[in-house]
Amino acid sequence: MHELSIAYNIVQIADDAAREAGVERVDAVHLRLGQLSGVVSEALLFGYDIAAQGTRLEGSRLEIEDVPVVIFCAQCRAERELESIQVFCCPECGTPSMDIRSGNELEIGYVEYSDEPAHS
Ligand SMILES: [Zn+2]
Repeated sequence: MHELSIAYNIVQIADDAAREAGVERVDAVHLRLGQLSGVVSEALLFGYDIAAQGTRLEGSRLEIEDVPVVIFCAQCRAERELESIQVFCCPECGTPSMDIRSGNELEIGYVEYSDEPAHS
């Protein structure tokens, strides 16, 4: 499963960040996920719980922020947010565009830590 390996990556990065910060437990990881990233949120959430086991992230939440697809319309000379990823046309004037400015994101926004001491 593609999402499982991504989940392991996310957990690894956040776990490393927590260790460097001297934190015992992570509350939540915020992820920016573009609509064109090809990642299925549900599968990623499922994989996250598996990947988090035995790490500082065990029991934490993965919060996914969906990043919309933005194209540049040559006609309007402006960036436009797509209403649907099925149709790569400017929502204002209908001009087709494959000049994608955002929507491929797969990045950790930030990691939330807990102040509580570890119990184990
Ligand atoms: Zn346009």
